[in-house]
Amino acid sequence: MKLRQLNRFFLPLMLGTMVFLSGCDLFAEQIEINPEILKQASTQTISLLGDLNDKVSDSNREKLEGLVAEAISLCQKRENKQNYEMGKTEGKLWNKISGILDKETIRQFGKIEDDEDEYEESPDVDYVEEVLTRLKKTISKEDYAEIHQLMEVVNADDSSVEETIDAQDKMKLILRKYSQLDVSATIMNLLDEPAQNHIAVYRIQNDYSIIYEKGSKSGLNDLNIEKQKEMGSHWNEIKSILPESKLNQFKYFAVTSDGEWGTCAYVMRIDKTGENWCISIDPADKIDDGLFPYTIVHEYAHYLSLNNNQVEYYDSDVAYPMDTYWDYECIAKKDSYLQAYYEQFWEPIYMDWLSDSENEYFYSRHQSEFPTEYAATDCSEDFAESFAGYVLEEKAKSPQLKNKYDFFDQYPEFVELKNEILNNVKKNKIDLSPEIDPLYEEEAA
Ligand SMILES: [Zn+2]
Repeated sequence: MKLRQLNRFFLPLMLGTMVFLSGCDLFAEQIEINPEILKQASTQTISLLGDLNDKVSDSNREKLEGLVAEAISLCQKRENKQNYEMGKTEGKLWNKISGILDKETIRQFGKIEDDEDEYEESPDVDYVEEVLTRLKKTISKEDYAEIHQLMEVVNADDSSVEETIDAQDKMKLILRKYSQLDVSATIMNLLDEPAQNHIAVYRIQNDYSIIYEKGSKSGLNDLNIEKQKEMGSHWNEIKSILPESKLNQFKYFAVTSDGEWGTCAYVMRIDKTGENWCISIDPADKIDDGLFPYTIVHEYAHYLSLNNNQVEYYDSDVAYPMDTYWDYECIAKKDSYLQAYYEQFWEPIYMDWLSDSENEYFYSRHQSEFPTEYAATDCSEDFAESFAGYVLEEKAKSPQLKNKYDFFDQYPEFVELKNEILNNVKKNKIDLSPEIDPLYEEEAA
């Protein structure tokens, strides 16, 4: 049975192994390993082993330390020359390291059986196509055809960052010709997944009340007054958990649905810089099952860590040094939450994760560090999952997780937010005991 994902963030992750594919090869150069590197390698090996540390053999540990030292040395040499794209030799080294770690994980924790029913067929209906079709009433035939084509560029896996941004800019330019359209909301409705049915868009006012926006302004169906009120009432569910005053960068509230289960809430930025945001919830998902607060806090954590004060969004494909948090769409600012979180919890294990970002054994060997299996998806999801745990869980389930919760506790603004959310939860009698334990959501049958 398909389980509720705790969240989703705007564009699909396209990370994975792509970094391994390019860059120059340093194989010809001699690998130099000094005592400082050896020390670093030994510390990093401890991080890489995670829960395997206690039972790993000395010989395996030594083997890993040797390979990690080689990888560190190659990386340092390359980065000293301002080359931030990994070469083949380094890629192969990390594949080898991950391979040894996987074997050890299987030896200690057993093999993971393939779950063949894991993937559901995608639905026949394409809601994005329906949005575009509705826009035909407003825009010219030529503009319709051009937007169609630009969307293909945006959605193509092999489009570069430049091509994607350029296509989005062109879409905006076309839509701006039509003053009856809300361009931001229209783009939002067009750039979602086909299975996501956009039902209604509301504008958030300065006093945090919302105003329904006519469907025709953004390619949606118009709702009758009764439905407008019904859908709009879900905004109160968000406000019953998150403090109003901390929603000032949210300009839209959207009601979207992919049916029961699937995504039950998400946030997305609605501009290039991450200054303005939209928060969306799915009315098909129950909000009283105790999981809803975790989802909302998780999504809010994405906004907290990925807004314009925290990160810079790219306009081109560039690689950055190992010690910096960057992903497929942004780079963290120096003093940002994600940069600090990455340095403390992800940098040492990052290359193992990157050598196969969908490797289930990666989670197996780091279970004590992650609040959920979903948190092992990537650093940003871990930040959001752990933040939800920090705010809503009474106690960390392991010392490693306690370190993560302590990380958040260093920031007075997080302590304040946590208190405000917990006060809301209490005041509004929000259920925090989900039917599905948020800490073990992957095994609910
Ligand atoms: Zn998420």
